[in-house]
Amino acid sequence: MDCLFCKIIAGEIPSAKVYEDETVYVFKDIAPIAPVHYLLIPKTHISGASALDEGNADVVAHIFTVAAKIAKEEKLDGGFRIITNCGDDAGQTVKHLHFHLLAGKQMGWSAESGV
Ligand code: 5GP
Ligand code: ZN
Repeated sequence: MDCLFCKIIAGEIPSAKVYEDETVYVFKDIAPIAPVHYLLIPKTHISGASALDEGNADVVAHIFTVAAKIAKEEKLDGGFRIITNCGDDAGQTVKHLHFHLLAGKQMGWSAESGV
């Protein structure tokens, strides 16, 4: 499958790893928009939030617990934001479910995310 994030998980494309376990991989975004900008992705290919169903959604809860663990370990005491873009209107550019973890600055808020 021609999927950028599947290739990153497979190690075919290098990435700056932050965390890894059996089902989740976390790495630094190549074009950060905040001092902390990580991507949290399931190791199984899911094309995006609209492809979630009862059969594959457990990993989403796990991704959020991983985010909480990272926030604790990295002392993101000021808070953090988790975003997933789904589909063209939201600006999803990589069709493998991913959650942006943003932190390290005061963030605004708007339909465009306001980061
Ligand atoms: P999206 O726009 O789909 O929500 O987010 C895709 C994210 O992947 C973008 O923030 C972009 O900077 C990041 N990205 C794209 N290609 C690469 C890559 O090769 N390596 C890394 N680490 N991040 C990437
Ligand atoms: Zn993939």
